[in-house]
Amino acid sequence: MFKLFGLFRRKSDDLKHNQVMDLASDYVDEELEEPVLAKVRRHLGFCPPCQSFMDSFGKTVRLLRSMPQEKAPESVRRRIIEQSQRH
Ligand SMILES: [Zn+2]
Repeated sequence: MFKLFGLFRRKSDDLKHNQVMDLASDYVDEELEEPVLAKVRRHLGFCPPCQSFMDSFGKTVRLLRSMPQEKAPESVRRRIIEQSQRH
């Protein structure tokens, strides 16, 4: 939750790509609250790269959760971010 405080202090209303990616796990877990949730959704609305990032991130998290050992490790998130930045 602490990482959100930085966002509230921001002057600009729009999230940066890396902020959306930072919030990805909370978004997928549906732990985001307004107004951050609305900002993430708005960013996804106009940003196909983040959209596909969120899509594959969500799928990966769900896949991991469906497996016996329940891990959504940081390394997976990093790998998806690296992949999405290669485009
Ligand atoms: Zn973006």
